[in-house]
Amino acid sequence: MIAAAYLYDPEAQQASNARGENYWYAYIGEILCQLGLPAVAVNVRDEKHLADALSSLRVIFAGDARAGDFSPIAESLSDWVAAGGTLIAFASEGFDELFGNAFHSVTPEPDGSFAMTALMRLADHALARAIAPQSLAGEPIPVFGPLRKVVPQASEVLAHLMSVRLAETSSPAVTLRHLGRGQACYFAFDVAHTMWVLHKGRPVDGDYDLDGYLRLSDAIVTGPLRQDVPYADILLFLLQNVLHSAGTPMVHQVPPLAGEVADLLIFFGGDDEGLSDGSQVAASDFMRSRGLPYHINIMPDADGHFALTPAEHHHILANGHEASLHFNFIDGFSHPSGFTQQDVERQCKLFCQTFGHSPVVSVNHWCRWTGWVEPAKWMAALGIKGDNSRLGLSSPPLNPVNHIGLAFGSAFPHYYYDDADGGNQRLDFLCEPGMAYEVGYLGDATDFDTLHRALDLAAHFHMTANFFYHPIYIARQESCRQAIEELVRYLRESGLRTVFMGCDELWAWWDARARSTVELLTASRSETRLLARCAYPEGMTVKLPLAREVVQVRLGQVSIAPAVQNHFGLPWLLLPCPPGETEIAACSG
Ligand SMILES: [Zn+2]
Repeated sequence: MIAAAYLYDPEAQQASNARGENYWYAYIGEILCQLGLPAVAVNVRDEKHLADALSSLRVIFAGDARAGDFSPIAESLSDWVAAGGTLIAFASEGFDELFGNAFHSVTPEPDGSFAMTALMRLADHALARAIAPQSLAGEPIPVFGPLRKVVPQASEVLAHLMSVRLAETSSPAVTLRHLGRGQACYFAFDVAHTMWVLHKGRPVDGDYDLDGYLRLSDAIVTGPLRQDVPYADILLFLLQNVLHSAGTPMVHQVPPLAGEVADLLIFFGGDDEGLSDGSQVAASDFMRSRGLPYHINIMPDADGHFALTPAEHHHILANGHEASLHFNFIDGFSHPSGFTQQDVERQCKLFCQTFGHSPVVSVNHWCRWTGWVEPAKWMAALGIKGDNSRLGLSSPPLNPVNHIGLAFGSAFPHYYYDDADGGNQRLDFLCEPGMAYEVGYLGDATDFDTLHRALDLAAHFHMTANFFYHPIYIARQESCRQAIEELVRYLRESGLRTVFMGCDELWAWWDARARSTVELLTASRSETRLLARCAYPEGMTVKLPLAREVVQVRLGQVSIAPAVQNHFGLPWLLLPCPPGETEIAACSG
């Protein structure tokens, strides 16, 4: 059975969308997907469904006042929590006593849905203190949407609110109450709204960064905050820590490596920039010689001609590497300007005609973008599966090499969701965010400190981290090749088991992961039994919160040694599963 659910109110969504407003809480589906927590949607207006669901659920999410009126069910939820449930609320109304809080006041959005309302800082609490690595301890995390502030009375504080000017306040951002055998966790803001706005940014409808172009850097909403902090991922793993005591299994963000638990995933991409100097083949040959995957995006010029020859294209594929499309909305376009659906269609068609296959994950030259979700819809309509243009770095400089860019808050892939006109439906189109852009060298000099910092960050958060190296730099810069060799050496020396991929394979993994599930069958003091259904051919890793020592694990009929890892201060049992259906038993004492 699926042990987690989120409450939703279809009438509240219709009303929001009819006003032309996003139903921000719809992004709860994406949070659960990133967590790898299988969950069902429960319509709060369907009392029968709700009553039935409560008996089998261990985890319930509820949204804020804009997401629906959840107060009529406060009493039954209170009993459910006391009996062992974990309730997580995003500024919900009508529940304050259950969360051990008293209502204080509401702070509206200051200047629209994309402007920061406040900042939060994690508290010195067992569930919060180990989420950020030491190097990022205490970094403020931006919060979007209205605040519904409370005064803690019988709750613990997991995070504090600060003003956008970094002034400390007495209001908590997140509280936790233990009630009976369960717990109730309250966020003073809508986490779904905050994560959506962080991930996708604001609409690119103006040259906000003044660099002269409409690019994804215009979408960044974190203002002057540091750009190397995974703000949304910190929120994600705060949720994961709160969920730990619920005992529900999740699918790890990183697939196994040769059947064993892996620590992180690195995926490589690079754009050929339409060059005809053989750099694509030279770069592909280098990556192959080091046993690494690679992904090259191939760009047409203003006349629609690709410099890469069919023979070179074949050579790259024969190396086991990926080739896709580098959209060119720079040459032949006036700036600052947008681009159109016809531009996207024309270049995609040219690519398919020239190279005989469709692009899977593409990149836009100079990270060009227009509007909010529109380019994602246009590309999805052509069968393209994802985009790797979302570099989390501001501009100028126009080409911010050797930087860790997480200004969009996450290193993990996330699906695009349509706007209010489209009913906020999830699109079958994945954002593969950038993370390390030409990191590890600058000009002729190497910079291994920055490289190690990027790798340490990726390892700490078990990231799917994008390392982006243009073929031209791999082909021509000795320092770039040295950085890639150091990347491999450092990971090996650190004992980190790393899954390497290209951007297309990352899409295949994340798409399969989104279709995979793990269910809790039974749980007693002596044994927990799970059912995993894995859609990825290389398998997946299930993570199970560990409450007591596990001495034996059976995957189907096979006994394996228990693999326990500490993630963000809490112990997890990691279970690498083969593709298909696997019954898992974890036995204690
Ligand atoms: Zn480019």
